Amino acid sequence: MVNDTVLAEDGIVHQTSRRKANEKKASGSSPATDPQGLVEFACECNKVDCEKSVRVPLYVYRRMVEAGDQYLLQAGHHAFATYRTIVTIGLMRIEERA
Ligand SMILES: [Zn+2]
Repeated sequence: MVNDTVLAEDGIVHQTSRRKANEKKASGSSPATDPQGLVEFACECNKVDCEKSVRVPLYVYRRMVEAGDQYLLQAGHHAFATYRTIVTIGLMRIEERA
């Protein structure tokens, strides 16, 4: 039988490590951009096995980090059950603490 509590904790560990990697990328002097000028970041949802990436302009990600409790997600994914969506553009979504 699957232990939901352990799974949820694993999800948060993965989420935190993805977030740290994203922040590190965003704080670099010149992260790689695609031809549209977008930077690829890892989806910051709470799913352990999520390997999606989300492309946004660098300033959008930096602004999101400055705002605090906001997460960058692939559309359809969630940071936490209690968070609400504040921006959805194409496959990109930003959620913040409700
Ligand atoms: Zn995800």
